Order: sequence, then structure tokens, then C-alpha cells
Amino acid sequence: MKRYGSFTAVDGISLRVRVGEFFGFLGPNGAGKTTSINAIVGLARTSGGAIRIFGHDNRTQWRQARRLIGLSPQEYNFDRYLSLRDVLIFAAGYYGLHGKAIAERADMLLERFGLSAHAHLEYTKISGGQKRRLSLARALIHQPSLLILDEPTAGVDVELRLELWEWLRKLNADGLTVFLTTHYLEEAEQLCRRIAIVRDGRIVTEKPTEELVADGASLQDVFLELTRS
Ligand code: ATP
Repeated sequence: MKRYGSFTAVDGISLRVRVGEFFGFLGPNGAGKTTSINAIVGLARTSGGAIRIFGHDNRTQWRQARRLIGLSPQEYNFDRYLSLRDVLIFAAGYYGLHGKAIAERADMLLERFGLSAHAHLEYTKISGGQKRRLSLARALIHQPSLLILDEPTAGVDVELRLELWEWLRKLNADGLTVFLTTHYLEEAEQLCRRIAIVRDGRIVTEKPTEELVADGASLQDVFLELTRS
């Protein structure tokens, strides 16, 4: 549960994401998705309830829990004066990771996400799509086991979206657990094995994607039916 003063933003969200799963967390604007993510990663203090990351309580064992999570947040929060390469290297520093191995991993991620040519530019000098890729690279720098993506393809063009989907599928196939929030229902349908839909801070359904869209219903129809006020 998360309250902001007397307003309850999230209540009664009970979820278990399985190891290796690609999980979709959907809901209309203001449903409580980012609040839930902030609670999971420890950026927001919950007003009640418990959150465990691979068995680690995210309050009492926050260090272990945080180390296992890579977050690509909805809003960019890069240091504007750092080069792309330093964004990755500094992010690793938050986890106590330094040195040659991290510099090499940063270079590998820049290469993988097509950012090598811009490695020494400040982040303010790259495009929106490049910022999305940088955000993903930063989320992966410390080799997390759980990747949390808050609208990772907002504002990116069709080609990059398809490319990002491929990267995410590959990461998941390699064993990374993925927790995705998106307003692109097609994206959720394409990528997620299970989907939870939240409305007004509560879960209204949680099912395997194929069950949610059984009987020929589109995910959009199901979503609207469950979330329309
Ligand atoms: P969107 O899809 O628009 O990003 P969301 O599902 O991520 O929405 P949240 O950002 O979690 O929604 O917001 C849930 C509710 O909590 C909203 O009503 C919002 O106004 C409220 N809220 C979020 N952050 C705060 C805050 N710091 N103080 C007070 N209310 C907040």
C-alpha cells in the first residue's frame, strides 16, 4: 500500500512475478503503476505491505534487493554533464562496481545499443530514441536479475520499437526477469507471458496473456472493459 497524505495511490496489489518471466503491468494513467515501481525499487516508502526481490525484503535487505534490480524509469534522470559512457560507469559506481571490467561492460553495452559513436557526447546532445537506449544500457550495467521498464518505448519510432522488442526478448530468453509497464497494448501482447491490469491502485485481473485474449477478444477490448470508469 502507498498513501500520499490521505490519498491512497496503491492498495491491495499482491503480485508474484516468477523467475525468468516477462510480466506486463498495465493500467490507465494514474492507476498506480509508477508508484508501485517506485515502491519495488525502494524509491517510495510503502505505507503497508511487504515486497521481496528474489527472497530479499526490499526494506530490511535493501542492499541485496537493489543490487538485483535494473530500472529504466519513465522520466530521464541522467546527469546532464556526463558523457554517455560516464553515465554507465557512474551508475555502476552506485553498486560499488569499478575498474576495467566495468569500463569494458559499458563499451559493450554502448556497442550493443548502437551508441558507440556517441559515447563521449553529453546526454543532452543525443536524440529521444538514443536516450531510451541509454536508459536501457544503464539499467543493465550491473547485470541485474530483474529488469523493470516503465514505458520503455514511449516516444520512440517504429523501427527502434521493434529493435527494442528484439533486445528485450533476447535478454529474457537469456534468463533476465522482465517487469514491463506500457501503454502500447500491442507491445504487452507481443512480449508478456503474464499480464496484470491495475485500476485505481488495485489489480483488476492477472492472467497469462493468452487467457486474457481468449475467444478472439483483443487486449484493447479487455483492457477498456476492465478499466473504463
Ligand atoms: P501514468 O500511466 O500516467 O504514468 P501511473 O499508473 O504510473 O500513471 P502513478 O504515477 O503511480 O500512476 O500515480 C498514481 C496516483 O498517485 C495518481 O493519482 C497520482 O496523482 C498520485 N501520485 C503520484 N505521485 C504522487 C506524489 N508524489 N504525491 C501525491 N500524489 C501522487
